[in-house]
Amino acid sequence: MRFVSTRDPAHAAGLAEALERGLAPDGGLYVPSEWPEYSPEALGAPGTGGRALAGLAVAMLRPFFAGSRLAPHLAAIAAEAFSFDAPLEPLDALGRLSVLELFHGPTAAFKDFGARFLAACLARLRAPSDRTLTLLVATSGDTGGAVAAAFHERPGFEVAVLYPKGLVSATQERQLTCWGGNVRAFAVRGTFDDCQRLVKEAFLDPALRERRVLSSANSINLGRLLPQAVYYAAASLAIRQAYREPASFIIPAGNLGNSLACVWARRLGLPIAEVVLAHNANRAVPDFLRTGVWQPRPSIATLASAMDVGNPSNLERLRALYPQIDRLRTAVEADTVDDEHIRERIRADFQRFGRTWCPHTATAAEVYARLPPERRSARRWVLVATAHAAKFREIIEPLIGRPVAVPDSLARLLERPVLRSEIAPQLEALRSALA
Ligand SMILES: *Cc1c(COP(=O)(O)O)cnc(C)c1O
Repeated sequence: MRFVSTRDPAHAAGLAEALERGLAPDGGLYVPSEWPEYSPEALGAPGTGGRALAGLAVAMLRPFFAGSRLAPHLAAIAAEAFSFDAPLEPLDALGRLSVLELFHGPTAAFKDFGARFLAACLARLRAPSDRTLTLLVATSGDTGGAVAAAFHERPGFEVAVLYPKGLVSATQERQLTCWGGNVRAFAVRGTFDDCQRLVKEAFLDPALRERRVLSSANSINLGRLLPQAVYYAAASLAIRQAYREPASFIIPAGNLGNSLACVWARRLGLPIAEVVLAHNANRAVPDFLRTGVWQPRPSIATLASAMDVGNPSNLERLRALYPQIDRLRTAVEADTVDDEHIRERIRADFQRFGRTWCPHTATAAEVYARLPPERRSARRWVLVATAHAAKFREIIEPLIGRPVAVPDSLARLLERPVLRSEIAPQLEALRSALA
Protein backbone atom coordinates (compact mmCIF):
# COMPACT_ATOMS: atom_id res chain seq x y z
CA MET A 1 0.00 0.00 0.00
CA ARG A 2 1.14 3.53 -0.77
CA PHE A 3 0.26 6.48 1.42
CA VAL A 4 -0.20 9.93 -0.11
CA SER A 5 0.00 13.46 1.23
CA THR A 6 -3.30 15.23 1.91
CA ARG A 7 -1.91 18.21 -0.01
CA ASP A 8 -0.46 16.59 -3.08
CA PRO A 9 -0.92 12.90 -3.98
CA ALA A 10 2.35 13.07 -5.93
CA HIS A 11 4.05 12.86 -2.52
CA ALA A 12 3.60 9.15 -1.96
CA ALA A 13 5.43 6.88 0.46
CA GLY A 14 5.44 3.28 1.58
CA LEU A 15 4.41 2.44 5.13
CA ALA A 16 7.95 2.43 6.58
CA GLU A 17 8.80 5.78 5.07
CA ALA A 18 5.50 7.33 6.19
CA LEU A 19 6.10 6.14 9.76
CA GLU A 20 9.68 7.37 9.87
CA ARG A 21 8.82 10.74 8.36
CA GLY A 22 5.64 11.53 10.28
CA LEU A 23 4.86 14.51 8.06
CA ALA A 24 4.94 14.41 4.23
CA PRO A 25 7.64 16.62 2.63
CA ASP A 26 5.01 19.14 1.48
CA GLY A 27 3.74 19.57 5.05
CA GLY A 28 0.66 17.40 4.40
CA LEU A 29 -0.39 14.29 6.32
CA TYR A 30 -0.17 10.77 4.98
CA VAL A 31 -3.46 9.03 4.17
CA PRO A 32 -4.07 5.64 2.52
CA SER A 33 -4.13 5.79 -1.28
CA GLU A 34 -6.90 3.19 -1.37
CA TRP A 35 -9.49 1.75 0.97
CA PRO A 36 -9.86 -2.00 1.34
CA GLU A 37 -13.46 -2.94 2.20
CA TYR A 38 -14.22 -5.53 4.84
CA SER A 39 -17.44 -7.36 5.38
CA PRO A 40 -18.48 -7.62 9.02
CA GLU A 41 -19.40 -11.26 8.35
CA ALA A 42 -15.86 -12.07 7.32
CA LEU A 43 -14.37 -10.34 10.37
CA GLY A 44 -16.75 -12.09 12.77
CA ALA A 45 -17.01 -10.81 16.34
CA PRO A 46 -13.65 -11.49 17.96
CA GLY A 47 -14.38 -9.51 21.16
CA THR A 48 -12.54 -6.66 22.84
CA GLY A 49 -9.92 -8.53 24.91
CA GLY A 50 -6.27 -7.78 24.17
CA ARG A 51 -5.64 -11.00 22.27
CA ALA A 52 -8.79 -10.57 20.19
CA LEU A 53 -7.77 -7.00 19.36
CA ALA A 54 -4.33 -8.19 18.25
CA GLY A 55 -5.91 -10.79 15.96
CA LEU A 56 -8.34 -8.27 14.50
CA ALA A 57 -5.46 -5.81 13.99
CA VAL A 58 -3.69 -8.39 11.82
CA ALA A 59 -6.81 -9.04 9.73
CA MET A 60 -7.62 -5.34 9.30
CA LEU A 61 -4.17 -3.86 8.87
CA ARG A 62 -2.69 -6.50 6.54
CA PRO A 63 -3.52 -4.54 3.34
CA PHE A 64 -1.88 -1.42 4.79
CA PHE A 65 1.29 -3.40 5.54
CA ALA A 66 1.33 -5.16 2.15
CA GLY A 67 4.60 -4.63 0.29
CA SER A 68 6.33 -3.08 3.32
CA ARG A 69 9.36 -4.56 5.05
CA LEU A 70 7.19 -4.45 8.18
CA ALA A 71 4.65 -6.88 6.67
CA PRO A 72 6.27 -10.07 8.04
CA HIS A 73 6.26 -8.51 11.53
CA LEU A 74 2.62 -7.40 11.66
CA ALA A 75 1.47 -10.18 14.00
CA ALA A 76 4.31 -9.53 16.45
CA ILE A 77 3.74 -5.76 16.32
CA ALA A 78 0.02 -6.21 16.98
CA ALA A 79 0.67 -8.59 19.88
CA GLU A 80 3.04 -6.08 21.45
CA ALA A 81 0.71 -3.10 21.03
CA PHE A 82 -2.56 -4.83 21.98
CA SER A 83 -1.45 -6.42 25.21
CA PHE A 84 -4.40 -5.09 27.22
CA ASP A 85 -8.18 -4.98 26.82
CA ALA A 86 -10.60 -2.35 25.54
CA PRO A 87 -13.72 -3.50 27.43
CA LEU A 88 -17.17 -2.49 26.24
CA GLU A 89 -19.33 -2.07 29.34
CA PRO A 90 -23.12 -1.65 29.25
CA LEU A 91 -24.55 1.40 31.05
CA ASP A 92 -28.26 0.57 30.72
CA ALA A 93 -30.39 -2.55 30.77
CA LEU A 94 -31.57 -2.21 27.15
CA GLY A 95 -28.13 -2.15 25.58
CA ARG A 96 -28.75 1.29 24.10
CA LEU A 97 -25.77 2.85 25.86
CA SER A 98 -22.34 1.50 26.66
CA VAL A 99 -18.86 2.77 27.35
CA LEU A 100 -15.70 1.70 25.53
CA GLU A 101 -12.87 1.83 28.07
CA LEU A 102 -9.61 2.69 26.35
CA PHE A 103 -7.64 3.33 29.54
CA HIS A 104 -6.35 -0.07 30.60
CA GLY A 105 -2.84 0.43 29.23
CA PRO A 106 0.33 1.33 31.15
CA THR A 107 -0.37 5.07 31.32
CA ALA A 108 -4.17 4.79 31.58
CA ALA A 109 -5.12 6.70 28.41
CA PHE A 110 -6.06 5.60 24.87
CA LYS A 111 -2.77 6.99 23.59
CA ASP A 112 -1.04 3.83 24.88
CA PHE A 113 -2.43 1.85 21.90
CA GLY A 114 -1.00 4.18 19.27
CA ALA A 115 2.29 4.91 21.04
CA ARG A 116 2.99 1.21 21.60
CA PHE A 117 2.10 0.30 18.01
CA LEU A 118 4.36 3.03 16.63
CA ALA A 119 7.21 1.99 18.95
CA ALA A 120 6.85 -1.65 17.89
CA CYS A 121 7.02 -0.58 14.22
CA LEU A 122 9.97 1.80 14.57
CA ALA A 123 11.94 -0.74 16.62
CA ARG A 124 11.69 -3.17 13.71
CA LEU A 125 12.74 -0.60 11.14
CA ARG A 126 16.06 0.05 12.84
CA ALA A 127 19.29 -1.74 12.00
CA PRO A 128 21.62 -2.54 14.93
CA SER A 129 24.27 -0.28 13.41
CA ASP A 130 21.94 2.76 13.23
CA ARG A 131 22.65 5.71 15.50
CA THR A 132 20.39 6.16 18.53
CA LEU A 133 17.13 7.87 17.61
CA THR A 134 16.05 10.65 19.95
CA LEU A 135 12.30 11.19 20.13
CA LEU A 136 11.46 14.71 21.12
CA VAL A 137 7.97 15.05 22.57
CA ALA A 138 6.23 18.22 23.68
CA THR A 139 3.30 17.32 25.87
CA SER A 140 0.50 18.91 27.83
CA GLY A 141 -0.05 15.62 29.63
CA ASP A 142 -1.00 12.26 28.19
CA THR A 143 1.12 12.00 25.02
CA GLY A 144 4.43 12.30 26.86
CA GLY A 145 3.61 9.52 29.29
CA ALA A 146 2.34 7.15 26.60
CA VAL A 147 5.38 7.71 24.36
CA ALA A 148 7.80 7.42 27.30
CA ALA A 149 6.20 4.14 28.38
CA ALA A 150 6.22 2.76 24.83
CA PHE A 151 9.92 3.48 24.21
CA HIS A 152 11.25 2.95 27.76
CA GLU A 153 14.15 0.45 27.75
CA ARG A 154 14.01 -0.04 23.97
CA PRO A 155 17.60 -0.27 22.69
CA GLY A 156 18.42 2.31 20.02
CA PHE A 157 15.88 4.86 21.28
CA GLU A 158 16.00 7.76 23.63
CA VAL A 159 13.04 9.95 24.65
CA ALA A 160 13.12 13.59 25.73
CA VAL A 161 9.78 14.77 27.12
CA LEU A 162 9.20 18.52 27.37
CA TYR A 163 6.30 19.73 29.49
CA PRO A 164 5.32 23.11 30.89
CA LYS A 165 6.46 23.41 34.50
CA GLY A 166 3.53 23.77 36.90
CA LEU A 167 0.90 23.41 34.16
CA VAL A 168 0.24 19.65 34.20
CA SER A 169 -1.59 17.82 36.98
CA ALA A 170 0.51 16.35 39.79
CA THR A 171 -0.45 12.82 38.73
CA GLN A 172 0.44 13.54 35.11
CA GLU A 173 3.79 15.02 36.10
CA ARG A 174 4.66 11.88 38.06
CA GLN A 175 3.90 9.88 34.93
CA LEU A 176 6.22 11.96 32.82
CA THR A 177 9.10 11.96 35.28
CA CYS A 178 9.10 8.41 36.66
CA TRP A 179 10.97 6.56 33.92
CA GLY A 180 14.70 7.11 34.07
CA GLY A 181 17.01 5.09 31.82
CA ASN A 182 16.56 6.18 28.21
CA VAL A 183 13.71 8.61 29.05
CA ARG A 184 14.45 12.13 30.24
CA ALA A 185 11.86 14.65 31.37
CA PHE A 186 12.36 18.39 31.10
CA ALA A 187 10.14 20.82 32.98
CA VAL A 188 10.21 23.88 30.77
CA ARG A 189 9.78 27.25 32.47
CA GLY A 190 7.07 28.31 30.04
CA THR A 191 3.81 27.18 28.45
CA PHE A 192 2.90 24.19 26.27
CA ASP A 193 3.33 26.45 23.25
CA ASP A 194 6.95 27.11 24.36
CA CYS A 195 7.53 23.35 24.54
CA GLN A 196 6.18 22.88 21.03
CA ARG A 197 8.25 25.76 19.69
CA LEU A 198 11.39 24.30 21.30
CA VAL A 199 10.78 20.95 19.61
CA LYS A 200 10.33 22.64 16.23
CA GLU A 201 13.48 24.73 16.72
CA ALA A 202 15.42 21.64 17.75
CA PHE A 203 14.46 19.91 14.49
CA LEU A 204 15.84 22.84 12.50
CA ASP A 205 19.00 23.26 14.57
CA PRO A 206 22.12 22.15 12.65
CA ALA A 207 24.19 21.72 15.84
CA LEU A 208 21.67 19.33 17.37
CA ARG A 209 21.04 17.48 14.11
CA GLU A 210 24.72 16.83 13.72
CA ARG A 211 24.96 15.18 17.11
CA ARG A 212 21.79 13.14 17.12
CA VAL A 213 19.07 11.72 14.91
CA LEU A 214 15.84 13.37 15.95
CA SER A 215 12.32 12.14 15.41
CA SER A 216 8.89 12.88 16.78
CA ALA A 217 6.09 10.58 17.82
CA ASN A 218 3.23 13.02 17.77
CA SER A 219 -0.32 12.16 16.95
CA ILE A 220 -0.15 12.98 13.26
CA ASN A 221 1.97 9.87 12.74
CA LEU A 222 0.14 7.21 10.76
CA GLY A 223 1.57 4.59 13.11
CA ARG A 224 -0.54 6.01 15.91
CA LEU A 225 -3.74 6.29 13.85
CA LEU A 226 -3.99 2.88 12.19
CA PRO A 227 -4.13 0.81 15.41
CA GLN A 228 -6.84 3.09 16.80
CA ALA A 229 -9.22 1.97 14.05
CA VAL A 230 -8.98 -1.55 15.50
CA TYR A 231 -10.78 -0.92 18.80
CA TYR A 232 -13.63 0.82 16.96
CA ALA A 233 -13.89 -2.19 14.70
CA ALA A 234 -13.93 -4.59 17.66
CA ALA A 235 -16.57 -2.59 19.55
CA SER A 236 -18.83 -2.16 16.52
CA LEU A 237 -18.59 -5.87 15.67
CA ALA A 238 -19.50 -6.75 19.27
CA ILE A 239 -22.59 -4.50 19.11
CA ARG A 240 -23.58 -5.92 15.75
CA GLN A 241 -23.21 -9.43 17.11
CA ALA A 242 -25.41 -8.65 20.12
CA TYR A 243 -28.14 -6.53 18.48
CA ARG A 244 -27.83 -6.84 14.69
CA GLU A 245 -27.43 -3.07 14.56
CA PRO A 246 -24.49 -0.74 13.90
CA ALA A 247 -22.78 1.18 16.70
CA SER A 248 -22.69 4.99 17.04
CA PHE A 249 -19.76 6.58 18.87
CA ILE A 250 -19.39 9.80 20.86
CA ILE A 251 -15.69 10.62 21.05
CA PRO A 252 -13.83 13.19 23.19
CA ALA A 253 -11.89 15.13 20.56
CA GLY A 254 -8.84 17.39 20.52
CA ASN A 255 -6.41 16.85 17.68
CA LEU A 256 -9.03 14.50 16.12
CA GLY A 257 -6.72 11.49 15.87
CA ASN A 258 -8.99 9.22 17.85
CA SER A 259 -12.12 10.43 16.02
CA LEU A 260 -10.50 10.09 12.61
CA ALA A 261 -9.63 6.47 13.36
CA CYS A 262 -13.34 5.80 13.94
CA VAL A 263 -14.28 7.49 10.66
CA TRP A 264 -11.61 5.40 8.89
CA ALA A 265 -13.00 2.22 10.47
CA ARG A 266 -16.44 3.09 9.05
CA ARG A 267 -14.84 3.79 5.65
CA LEU A 268 -13.36 0.29 5.78
CA GLY A 269 -16.85 -1.18 6.02
CA LEU A 270 -17.23 -1.65 9.77
CA PRO A 271 -20.81 -1.42 11.13
CA ILE A 272 -20.63 2.15 12.42
CA ALA A 273 -23.54 4.59 12.03
CA GLU A 274 -23.04 8.01 13.63
CA VAL A 275 -19.76 9.56 14.77
CA VAL A 276 -20.18 12.51 17.14
CA LEU A 277 -17.20 14.60 18.23
CA ALA A 278 -17.27 15.98 21.77
CA HIS A 279 -15.03 19.03 22.10
CA ASN A 280 -14.31 21.11 25.17
CA ALA A 281 -14.45 24.92 24.99
CA ASN A 282 -11.95 24.80 22.12
CA ARG A 283 -14.74 24.89 19.58
CA ALA A 284 -13.09 25.50 16.21
CA VAL A 285 -14.42 22.22 14.76
CA PRO A 286 -18.07 22.53 15.91
CA ASP A 287 -18.05 26.12 14.62
CA PHE A 288 -16.60 25.02 11.30
CA LEU A 289 -19.30 22.39 10.80
CA ARG A 290 -21.96 24.95 11.62
CA THR A 291 -20.69 27.88 9.54
CA GLY A 292 -18.59 26.18 6.86
CA VAL A 293 -15.79 28.69 7.59
CA TRP A 294 -12.55 27.27 8.99
CA GLN A 295 -11.09 29.49 11.68
CA PRO A 296 -8.30 27.98 13.77
CA ARG A 297 -7.70 29.75 17.10
CA PRO A 298 -5.18 29.84 19.92
CA SER A 299 -6.00 27.07 22.38
CA ILE A 300 -7.66 27.85 25.68
CA ALA A 301 -7.00 25.97 28.92
CA THR A 302 -9.83 23.73 30.15
CA LEU A 303 -10.35 20.89 32.63
CA ALA A 304 -10.09 18.42 29.72
CA SER A 305 -6.54 19.61 29.05
CA ALA A 306 -5.51 16.86 26.61
CA MET A 307 -8.15 18.29 24.25
CA ASP A 308 -6.99 21.91 24.44
CA VAL A 309 -6.31 22.24 20.73
CA GLY A 310 -7.24 25.31 18.74
CA ASN A 311 -6.06 24.07 15.37
CA PRO A 312 -6.51 20.28 15.19
CA SER A 313 -4.02 18.72 12.77
CA ASN A 314 -6.16 15.78 11.80
CA LEU A 315 -8.96 17.95 10.45
CA GLU A 316 -6.86 17.98 7.30
CA ARG A 317 -7.26 14.21 7.02
CA LEU A 318 -10.99 14.42 7.66
CA ARG A 319 -11.38 17.07 4.96
CA ALA A 320 -9.30 14.97 2.57
CA LEU A 321 -11.90 12.23 2.95
CA TYR A 322 -14.90 14.60 2.73
CA PRO A 323 -13.82 17.68 0.75
CA GLN A 324 -17.37 19.03 0.57
CA ILE A 325 -18.75 20.56 3.73
CA ASP A 326 -22.20 19.05 3.18
CA ARG A 327 -20.75 15.56 2.93
CA LEU A 328 -18.59 16.24 5.99
CA ARG A 329 -21.71 17.30 7.90
CA THR A 330 -23.35 13.98 7.18
CA ALA A 331 -20.17 12.12 8.12
CA VAL A 332 -19.61 13.66 11.55
CA GLU A 333 -21.38 15.89 13.99
CA ALA A 334 -19.71 17.96 16.72
CA ASP A 335 -20.65 19.69 19.95
CA THR A 336 -18.79 21.72 22.55
CA VAL A 337 -18.84 21.38 26.36
CA ASP A 338 -17.52 24.03 28.77
CA ASP A 339 -15.85 23.38 32.14
CA GLU A 340 -19.02 24.05 34.11
CA HIS A 341 -20.87 21.31 32.23
CA ILE A 342 -17.89 18.95 32.53
CA ARG A 343 -18.06 19.33 36.32
CA GLU A 344 -21.82 18.88 36.41
CA ARG A 345 -21.70 15.81 34.20
CA ILE A 346 -19.04 14.15 36.38
CA ARG A 347 -21.27 14.70 39.43
CA ALA A 348 -24.50 13.67 37.69
CA ASP A 349 -23.19 10.45 36.12
CA PHE A 350 -21.49 9.42 39.36
CA GLN A 351 -24.96 9.58 40.92
CA ARG A 352 -26.73 7.96 37.99
CA PHE A 353 -24.34 5.20 36.88
CA GLY A 354 -21.90 5.02 39.80
CA ARG A 355 -19.14 5.70 37.27
CA THR A 356 -16.38 8.26 37.49
CA TRP A 357 -15.50 9.88 34.17
CA CYS A 358 -12.24 11.69 33.54
CA PRO A 359 -12.90 15.29 32.38
CA HIS A 360 -12.39 14.25 28.72
CA THR A 361 -14.81 11.34 28.90
CA ALA A 362 -17.29 13.66 30.65
CA THR A 363 -17.53 15.77 27.47
CA ALA A 364 -18.80 12.71 25.57
CA ALA A 365 -21.23 11.84 28.38
CA GLU A 366 -22.57 15.42 28.31
CA VAL A 367 -23.01 15.40 24.53
CA TYR A 368 -24.94 12.14 24.87
CA ALA A 369 -27.16 13.61 27.61
CA ARG A 370 -28.05 16.51 25.30
CA LEU A 371 -29.30 14.27 22.46
CA PRO A 372 -33.07 14.33 22.03
CA PRO A 373 -34.68 11.20 23.57
CA GLU A 374 -35.80 9.91 20.16
CA ARG A 375 -32.23 9.97 18.91
CA ARG A 376 -30.97 8.29 22.05
CA SER A 377 -33.39 5.42 21.60
CA ALA A 378 -32.85 5.09 17.84
CA ARG A 379 -29.20 4.02 18.08
CA ARG A 380 -26.75 1.83 19.95
CA TRP A 381 -24.58 4.56 21.48
CA VAL A 382 -21.06 4.06 22.73
CA LEU A 383 -19.31 6.67 24.90
CA VAL A 384 -15.58 6.52 24.37
CA ALA A 385 -13.67 6.74 27.68
CA THR A 386 -10.24 8.09 26.77
CA ALA A 387 -8.50 8.18 30.17
CA HIS A 388 -8.87 6.74 33.64
CA ALA A 389 -10.32 9.14 36.20
CA ALA A 390 -7.38 8.46 38.54
CA LYS A 391 -5.13 10.53 36.27
CA PHE A 392 -7.27 13.55 37.16
CA ARG A 393 -7.93 12.86 40.84
CA GLU A 394 -7.28 16.47 41.77
CA ILE A 395 -10.27 17.54 39.66
CA ILE A 396 -12.63 14.65 40.29
CA GLU A 397 -12.38 13.86 43.97
CA PRO A 398 -13.81 17.21 45.14
CA LEU A 399 -16.71 16.78 42.68
CA ILE A 400 -17.79 13.34 43.80
CA GLY A 401 -16.70 13.73 47.42
CA ARG A 402 -14.71 10.54 47.66
CA PRO A 403 -11.35 9.12 46.61
CA VAL A 404 -10.87 7.68 43.11
CA ALA A 405 -9.35 4.19 43.17
CA VAL A 406 -5.99 4.06 41.36
CA PRO A 407 -5.39 1.04 39.07
CA ASP A 408 -2.40 -1.08 40.13
CA SER A 409 -0.30 -0.38 37.03
CA LEU A 410 -0.72 3.37 37.50
CA ALA A 411 -0.05 3.13 41.25
CA ARG A 412 3.25 1.35 40.56
CA LEU A 413 4.33 4.15 38.22
CA LEU A 414 3.40 6.81 40.73
CA GLU A 415 5.60 5.17 43.37
CA ARG A 416 8.75 5.49 41.29
CA PRO A 417 11.18 8.32 42.05
CA VAL A 418 10.73 11.59 40.19
CA LEU A 419 13.57 12.38 37.78
CA ARG A 420 13.48 15.66 35.94
CA SER A 421 15.50 18.70 35.16
CA GLU A 422 14.22 22.18 34.72
CA ILE A 423 15.16 24.24 31.68
CA ALA A 424 14.59 27.75 30.41
CA PRO A 425 12.35 27.98 27.31
CA GLN A 426 15.32 28.59 25.00
CA LEU A 427 17.00 26.40 22.43
CA GLU A 428 20.46 26.81 24.06
CA ALA A 429 19.00 25.40 27.28
CA LEU A 430 17.61 22.36 25.48
CA ARG A 431 20.86 21.89 23.54
CA SER A 432 23.01 21.77 26.64
CA ALA A 433 20.46 19.69 28.56
CA LEU A 434 20.51 17.05 25.80
CA ALA A 435 24.30 17.06 25.45
C1 LIG B 1 -5.28 13.06 23.60
C2 LIG B 1 -6.54 12.89 24.37
C3 LIG B 1 -7.80 13.21 23.81
C4 LIG B 1 -7.93 13.82 22.44
O1 LIG B 1 -7.63 12.89 21.45
P1 LIG B 1 -7.34 13.38 19.95
O2 LIG B 1 -6.93 12.18 19.22
O3 LIG B 1 -6.24 14.40 20.06
O4 LIG B 1 -8.59 13.99 19.44
C5 LIG B 1 -8.93 12.97 24.55
N1 LIG B 1 -8.87 12.46 25.80
C6 LIG B 1 -7.68 12.13 26.37
C7 LIG B 1 -7.68 11.59 27.74
C8 LIG B 1 -6.48 12.33 25.68
O5 LIG B 1 -5.32 12.02 26.26
